[in-house]
Amino acid sequence: MPTYTIRKDEITKLVETLQEKYDVYGPIPRRTSHVFDKIEDASKVDLGYDSTIMSPKKYLTPTNQVMMRVGLKDTTIEDSTEDPRASKPRVLFGVHACDINGILFLDKVFGGIYNDPYYAANRENTTLVGINCLEPCKYGFCRSVEKNFVLEGYDLFLTAISETHYYVHVGSPKGDDLIYSAGDVFSEASLEDNNLFKTALRKKHESHSDDLYLDYINETLDMAWDDPIWDELGELCMNCGSCALVCPTCYCFDVKDNLDLTLTNVERTRKWDTCLYYDFATVAGNHNFRSHPPSRLKYRFYHKFRAAVHEHGTIACTGCGRCTATCPAGISIKEVLHRLQDYWASSPSVTGG
Ligand code: SF4
Ligand code: SF4
Repeated sequence: MPTYTIRKDEITKLVETLQEKYDVYGPIPRRTSHVFDKIEDASKVDLGYDSTIMSPKKYLTPTNQVMMRVGLKDTTIEDSTEDPRASKPRVLFGVHACDINGILFLDKVFGGIYNDPYYAANRENTTLVGINCLEPCKYGFCRSVEKNFVLEGYDLFLTAISETHYYVHVGSPKGDDLIYSAGDVFSEASLEDNNLFKTALRKKHESHSDDLYLDYINETLDMAWDDPIWDELGELCMNCGSCALVCPTCYCFDVKDNLDLTLTNVERTRKWDTCLYYDFATVAGNHNFRSHPPSRLKYRFYHKFRAAVHEHGTIACTGCGRCTATCPAGISIKEVLHRLQDYWASSPSVTGG
């Protein structure tokens, strides 16, 4: 596929052109951070953002999703009333590589053994424009978990190659459509642009640290099942669930039926849920498999770095650092992974002792 360039000062024009056909969502400043929000004023898009509070998963698996409405009086069942295919298509603009990797993970979860029609409709309705982070963000460790780059999952992908230009990769026919519909803001990349792109990537590689060794994370977690680290962390953790809510790969939800006051209409809704909450593992008979608070945080780590590999072939962490940024107890996922790494390094089989 050909590659292109676009002037940085043409980004506003590009977003305005996209707005004619799409609802465009992208990073905009909000107080001391950035959020993904619907773009009303194209000039507010800030592609130089560090990270956002919430990940863009909220557009693919919304916090609240109506699945079904049932009329008890006339015994009607209306399935999936909010079909996004019927609405205006969307562009998620300016998504970092870690978050595209998060979406690729959700694709496996919601498009695997159980094909989720709500997620599939949202995904199909969405065009993704990525942006390369040439500098690491404050809490991120994406390179350490090999989620600092993407080979697929995007439609267009932008990389700043100079003060004035972005280099543009096309990842799909949807991306081609954007190039053609945006008209003259894109130019075909020259040999010099290719060289600038290579230089930019080299600098990116040097600036992102790679100080975690996770090759044996599965085995380490097996050995560390009874390690005091879990009780230590459990003492700190407030089970607020913030880490899971901001996480681009956490996907659990609860399903609730709500009967209205007339007792004639029921709405079945699914809402984000998290394994950190007390009642997450409560089953019939009021038995709770994880009533002890530390067991819930421990479960989160074992699911992300152990079970997900078996279920989906990859760890469920993109190194975005949002859980660390948001944790009121100051728990840093990177520090926990470092401690597990130390655990592995100090085991006799590794040291030869
Ligand atoms: S576990 Fe933390 S660092 Fe990893 S993807 Fe989730 S929020 Fe990001
Ligand atoms: S954000 Fe921190 S305190 Fe809250 S549940 Fe997660 S680890 Fe525990």
